[in-house]
Amino acid sequence: MDIHDYNTQDIIKKYNFRCSKSLGQNFLVDETVLNDIVEGAQVTKDDLVIEIGPGVGSLTAALLKKAKKVISIELDDELIPILEAELGDQENFTLIHNDALKVNFQELIGEEKNVKLVANLPYYVTTPIIIKLLKENYKFTSLTIMIQKEVAERLNAEPSCKEYGAITLLVQYYCNTNIITMVSPESFIPRPRIDSVVIRLDRLEEPKVKVNDEELMFKIIRNSFNMRRKTLWNGTKFLGVEKEALLGAYEKAKIDPKRRGETLSLEEFATLTDRIIEVK
Ligand code: SAM
Repeated sequence: MDIHDYNTQDIIKKYNFRCSKSLGQNFLVDETVLNDIVEGAQVTKDDLVIEIGPGVGSLTAALLKKAKKVISIELDDELIPILEAELGDQENFTLIHNDALKVNFQELIGEEKNVKLVANLPYYVTTPIIIKLLKENYKFTSLTIMIQKEVAERLNAEPSCKEYGAITLLVQYYCNTNIITMVSPESFIPRPRIDSVVIRLDRLEEPKVKVNDEELMFKIIRNSFNMRRKTLWNGTKFLGVEKEALLGAYEKAKIDPKRRGETLSLEEFATLTDRIIEVK
């Protein structure tokens, strides 16, 4: 196949492929959006691009034209022979048949310096994939991903908005966020019921705030956003710190323990964590 003529609908027809709802298969048919993703990801000939969920390969073909190398990870058994037949002759293409949640990305990255992740993510696993890619600390310079509009709003949210949550803080701790474009359901087959957004997460050299125990901070964050433990106090009393000492830590951090988690900035969570460590 000449990758310059790659067409999603033609390939679906050629192989009589039936999209699986449970695997989140909504394939992009809109050339403008494909170009926006590749441009938004700022892919160059120096880059190794890792793609999750190539589908029938439309975004993959666009990436192969711009990148040094593309490694695509696809879970669906039925798509593997199609991708091999259509793109297997491209020298800079490697296909991996696996669940992206089980992949050790470091093994794929090796010694490469310029590594970008680009994906039209299957919606049913968007959040676990983002958490894995950030928490396992892989050396991606950026993640350019198509996700549900609602999730993009959460990643980009400010304190006290209803969209602000633990995932907001995780993403904003490691990355700067840039919205690339909004995408309507007509750009896919089959059409999803929701609007989508392409967002680029630029990995920071150093996390946005300094904290002495990253894991403890995220534990406090998760607990403070837990529905049953809405106040900060309820999110921290499980830590096994004596009550008076814990109150002292709040006082030193100048944070009211009756505040709700969603009103705190990342800096405030970091300050509170450090003060709690001092009395632990
Ligand atoms: N990249 C294609 C496009 O833009 O048209 C397809 C995107 S489609 C939204 C998501 C793709 O992810 C599907 O090909 C689906 O089979 C694949 N997929 C679903 N779950 C996966 C997983 N856990 N690991 C890897 N790929 C997965």
